Amino acid sequence: MITIQGKGVSTGVAAGPLYFYQRVKSEIARTTVTDTDAEWQRFKDAQAKAIDQLGELAEKARAEAGDEAALLFETHQMMAEDLDYEEAIEEGIKGGTNAEAVVSDVSVQFAEMFATMEDAYMQARAADVKDVSGRIIAILTGAVQGGIDSDVPVILAADDLAPSETVQLDKSKILGFITEGGSGSSHTAILARTMGIPAIIGVGTQLKSEYAGRDVIVDGATGTAVLEPDVETRARLMKKREEQLKTLEMLAQLKGKENVTKDGHSVRIYCNIGNPEDVHTVLTNDGGGIGLFRSEFLYLGCDDFPSEDYQFEAYKRVLTEMDGKEVVIRTLDIGADKQIGYFNLPQEENPAMGNRALRICLNRPEIFRTQLRALYRASAYGKLCIMFPMVTSVWEVREAKKLCEQVKKELTSEGIAYADDVQVGIMIETPAAAIMSDRLAKEVDFFSCGTNDLTQYTLACDRQNSDLGRFFDPHHPAVLRLLKLVADNAHKNGIWVGICGELGADLQLTETFLSIGIDELSVSPRSVLPLRKKVLETNVAQCRDKLLGDLASDQTQI
Ligand code: PEP
Ligand code: MG
Repeated sequence: MITIQGKGVSTGVAAGPLYFYQRVKSEIARTTVTDTDAEWQRFKDAQAKAIDQLGELAEKARAEAGDEAALLFETHQMMAEDLDYEEAIEEGIKGGTNAEAVVSDVSVQFAEMFATMEDAYMQARAADVKDVSGRIIAILTGAVQGGIDSDVPVILAADDLAPSETVQLDKSKILGFITEGGSGSSHTAILARTMGIPAIIGVGTQLKSEYAGRDVIVDGATGTAVLEPDVETRARLMKKREEQLKTLEMLAQLKGKENVTKDGHSVRIYCNIGNPEDVHTVLTNDGGGIGLFRSEFLYLGCDDFPSEDYQFEAYKRVLTEMDGKEVVIRTLDIGADKQIGYFNLPQEENPAMGNRALRICLNRPEIFRTQLRALYRASAYGKLCIMFPMVTSVWEVREAKKLCEQVKKELTSEGIAYADDVQVGIMIETPAAAIMSDRLAKEVDFFSCGTNDLTQYTLACDRQNSDLGRFFDPHHPAVLRLLKLVADNAHKNGIWVGICGELGADLQLTETFLSIGIDELSVSPRSVLPLRKKVLETNVAQCRDKLLGDLASDQTQI
């Protein structure tokens, strides 16, 4: 029995085989082949397999987001068997070079050719040819695309996962996560909480590749993973698992109840999601709405800019399935830890403070316009709120709103329907936005506090850096005072204020949030019922004066 200790970031106990996340190898070996016929056949087999995989992805995309979404994979299928492409590969292999090296060379050659073409559509094909070739190379080298090549669900181990990697994972195969690095507000942790599965981060070198395939039990509450547990440990952890299941059953009885405190204060409990499939868990956990749809996950899941129709179908699906409940869709929040190749963003020294989120959208309005058109078109199917991330100045909000007005005008002139009651709000995730919230409140319909970034920027503490540990403290009085300031300024100006960062689900702070008058808490679906329980047990009148007094006098020792 081996015990690995890390930091638990998503509770629950799960048992299964340990599986190491597979990445496509970036270095491709170059060898000389003598049996070129056999090598050509090896390429043909890989090509056929790639075409099959793309067919499956097209069907999945069609079922999830419509025909337009499937088209991308169908185009890739055609590209994989394009005659010129195939001929170039055949020539290289017949010249005596191994298939993966030839596919890599031809990919570079074709991508360069597309990139230099006049036509924007053809230029965009450069990314497609790279993607298709990457898939064929992965098959040839035995690397697994999509990360998990197992028939049974596994405990997934990795150094850390990029958002673009998490988005491609087959979620039905994951029982739990263990990562070497990461932090509580990294996107692996957020994904685990959304999925409601245990996760442990920051185990460092304790995770060894020779453990692959061994039985492991993870306990997300204590941050412990036990490899090949002895009988006693297994029984103890399995008992804990049973107790947790019982708690879940007990919480299920709170479904359908209002989120009202003992003394009659109501709060809306909404959910955070990353893609349309998550709506299912929102509804099963009785979320009252969606307080944060991280729309960038749609972009992360695509190999090129998602079209207006593709996005429209995804937003429409969420709004339709939420059936008239409020849905807050955050516009693209790319950059920093969420990088996407096809955006071709230049390397930055300090990406968290660089070209990201709304800044990209305002600098590249053609990208923003496509998203806004899709959002307004979808607004006809439910109750949409649009939210801009990473705001620091009033002018940014005005410029973004101006683009919204232009888009609405265009849609009207094209005779396309949209709702006339779409609320427009902003995230408060920078100290600048919090301090300017009196002015910003006059520009928008609501605020939603992104406490993950607000903590990072207020405390000058990288949210991705697991070494910073106790320095990244979202309970810090500086963060809590900013939240109170934002809530006061929102209410003085007659708008609502929510929290959509991970702190919203922190039960130690629920009384504080209710005391400062937060109107909405948006949390991972699994946190809805525990939070409702806490709200039902709270008496704001009894705790408010003390908590606000502590906050003002800096006695916040939570
Ligand atoms: C936040 O910063 O708190 C937030 C909700 O946004 P994200 O975690 O996606 O940066
Ligand atoms: Mg953020």
